[in-house]
Amino acid sequence: MCGIVGYVGQQKAASIIVEALRRLEYRGYDSAGVAVLQDGGIAFAKKAGRVEVMAKVAAQRHFTGTTGIGHTRWATHGGVTDANAHPHISSDGKFALIHNGVIENYSQIKKFLLTKGYTFLSETDTEVLCNLVAYHYAKEIADNNGHNRLLESVRKALRHVEGTYGIAVLCVDFPGEMVAARKASPLILGVGDGEYLLASDASALISRTRNVVYLKDGELVHVTTANFSIITLDQADVSPVVDRITWSIADAELNGYGTFMEKEIFEQPQALENTMRGRFAEDGSTAQFGGLNLSAAEFRQVDRLAFCACGTAWHACLVAEHLIERFARLPVEVDYASEFRYRNSPLDRRTLFFVMSQSGETIDTLGALREAKRTGYRVLAINNVVGSSIAREADGGIYQHVGPEIGVASTKAFTSQLLLGAMVALYLGRLRDMSFNDGVQYVEALKGVPDLVRQILKGAPHIQAVAKRYAKATDFLFLGRLSLFPIALEGALKLKEISYIHAEGYPAAEIKHGPIALITDKCPSVFLVPKGEIFNKIVSSMQEIKARKGPVIAIATEGSELPPGLADEVIRIPDCHEAVLPIVASIPVQLLSYYIALERGCDVDKPRNLAKSVTVE
Ligand code: GLU
Repeated sequence: MCGIVGYVGQQKAASIIVEALRRLEYRGYDSAGVAVLQDGGIAFAKKAGRVEVMAKVAAQRHFTGTTGIGHTRWATHGGVTDANAHPHISSDGKFALIHNGVIENYSQIKKFLLTKGYTFLSETDTEVLCNLVAYHYAKEIADNNGHNRLLESVRKALRHVEGTYGIAVLCVDFPGEMVAARKASPLILGVGDGEYLLASDASALISRTRNVVYLKDGELVHVTTANFSIITLDQADVSPVVDRITWSIADAELNGYGTFMEKEIFEQPQALENTMRGRFAEDGSTAQFGGLNLSAAEFRQVDRLAFCACGTAWHACLVAEHLIERFARLPVEVDYASEFRYRNSPLDRRTLFFVMSQSGETIDTLGALREAKRTGYRVLAINNVVGSSIAREADGGIYQHVGPEIGVASTKAFTSQLLLGAMVALYLGRLRDMSFNDGVQYVEALKGVPDLVRQILKGAPHIQAVAKRYAKATDFLFLGRLSLFPIALEGALKLKEISYIHAEGYPAAEIKHGPIALITDKCPSVFLVPKGEIFNKIVSSMQEIKARKGPVIAIATEGSELPPGLADEVIRIPDCHEAVLPIVASIPVQLLSYYIALERGCDVDKPRNLAKSVTVE
């Protein structure tokens, strides 16, 4: 959450920063702001609302400074107002600071600073940190200990801070310099041609450089026009490692699509191919993963798995649970990361712990990972963003390789997580009692999934027509069973997130224990109806809804015969192997939610109150 940008170079900083903020806006869009060092002071513009609102104001001010910072906010402390927008300026006018995260002890620090004469214009925790830096700077001048005073005052201020932060700081006494630091919020330094850029994710800087340094927790970077250096909070020097981003600017652009969500739904066949590439054993009967750092013999020792995640990734974990229990016959536990951290779950030493997070920065998931490691577990991560905190801190892991996901509502990252869950189930199954032939069939099914997805995407116009007919509903139920129950949960979440329609996901047979009370002719039910042993059971649940005049939308396997007149709408999915069914069933669910939101005129890429990559607890 929240986008951070910094620039130190020879060009006018403001226009570069505003352009970068446009690319980062999916991380927070409550307000935006930019500040540059010029004429011996700080010039800034900040406005509640989207980046474009602030960009107009900034353009009128004709900023000329070549060192600057910018921010898009996802408010935690204080309402969505101009005054609460970042950058914050210290009350002595010397410092500008942007921040992603939460300063948990801000009220104690604020009380202290008030006694020292500092004043506050906003309700944010961030302004407190900005003034704390100013306070230490004033002291530092008095101490005059010979270190770079800007860096030292930021470092000293951070030593008094509890909570999380990704920050960038400018000081009027240091034109052409910037200090940035992080703890549990992502920060990347881009090393450009005669310039440095700072950003909370790579999409903001890829148009200017692909050479990046991923800062680690507890590190501060000091950037000047000539070079940069990194130290820790304890003043130890850090040798920077410059990595190269492999994806291109086109991956982070719309390329003719109306929205990122639409683009990401339609690029799923390619994304799934990328997730699988190079990950099948030569004999074609199992999966293989490069980065797990665990031998087959060690995997054989495992007698239980635990998965932790949040939101959509938690749904992917529920599907993984189903497939691993079904195909590898190993018990699996799935927990919300935010719950696991605080509840002292009794795991046993032979439990293998997995976390899943698209961004690899989800703070609750990172917290669960740390807690599991602290208590002695080996933790593996399934994550998309290369070099993320979770990828770095896990003992091993699997990258999703689906490229940047910009739409706030996850689509391609979700199906890729489903695919990796299915591959882990295959791998574990083959280490246990899955036969060679069953393994070969399973692999063939996985390899075929991109084509199945292409086939469903061709039917998008039909799904759009269905969406139009139901877009005015105020409540929806999504109902599925077994491995499709999590897809029902995901369908309900997707609809809530982007169209603001109240929706609930339930196991189909559970409706009679409560949710059926919601049914009227105005509350449609979306049923996931695969062929197979539970087909008739689901049809009975559909009958129960129909008997109460509830509209029924069936997402059903091709060739399965639904009783005439039972479903008001039928969306067909191809017949497929059980391991890929959740992926196949997800596509119409995504399209349905997407087109309903579009029909209602919602901003699907920037849904109300949400932001991508949840870096606050
Ligand atoms: N806690 C800060 C605020 O509410 C930063 C929020 C963010 O990460 O955007 O302004």
